[in-house]
Amino acid sequence: MKVLDAIPIKLEFEEIARQLRLDANMGPSSIVRELMGVAQPLIQAKALYEVSYISQRGKDTVEINGVTFKSRVLRVNLDTVERIFPYIVTIGKALEDKASSSDDLLKQFYLETMGDMALRSSREYLENSLKRHFGLDHVSRMNPGSLKDWPITEQKPLFSVFGNVEDLIGVTLTDSMLMIPRKSVSGIFFPTEVSFFSCQLCSRKDCPARMAPYDETLKEKYGLKDE
Ligand code: SF4
Repeated sequence: MKVLDAIPIKLEFEEIARQLRLDANMGPSSIVRELMGVAQPLIQAKALYEVSYISQRGKDTVEINGVTFKSRVLRVNLDTVERIFPYIVTIGKALEDKASSSDDLLKQFYLETMGDMALRSSREYLENSLKRHFGLDHVSRMNPGSLKDWPITEQKPLFSVFGNVEDLIGVTLTDSMLMIPRKSVSGIFFPTEVSFFSCQLCSRKDCPARMAPYDETLKEKYGLKDE
């Protein structure tokens, strides 16, 4: 079990402005700059991962460190892989609490966006750290809840891989499978030669977070019918 605490995350105005589609000369950009000063010290980025091994494979299941996961797509993605990296990343609770306590909806939105960006950067930090430490050229990831094939209920077995996640990085899982702090993400990184994105198997239209085009032909490779 490895914990990365104090992940160095620095909010950059240009990136935030691009995400918010703001012109540097527009009025709201001065609010964004001011809020960056508020948000930056509230980011407490941490990551937890476990170097894990596949212990068994079924038709639609894969056993990782003795814990069974049910997903056809995950099983296919891990077909030729032995060592994988279940992970949880968080930026802590302080920034989301600050956003929720603001009665200005625009400021709330800006702070939430900064939190989302900090969380993404923290996951990228973990990804690069894994590549460096384990000599991996390329990794992909899957997250419980991103596909019907791997539902959010699979958070439970994922958390069980780690033991006491709250003690380790301060993240808990509710009965409805949500993580607290909200600004947390979980999943499994695995080595790949060809990049995989769950978005390739997701037909949702106009998703602002889409990372790859929907590819209907991939359904056949994964043996999916109505994903
Ligand atoms: S397209 Fe959107 S909803 Fe679908 S998997 Fe990608 S990010 Fe998730």
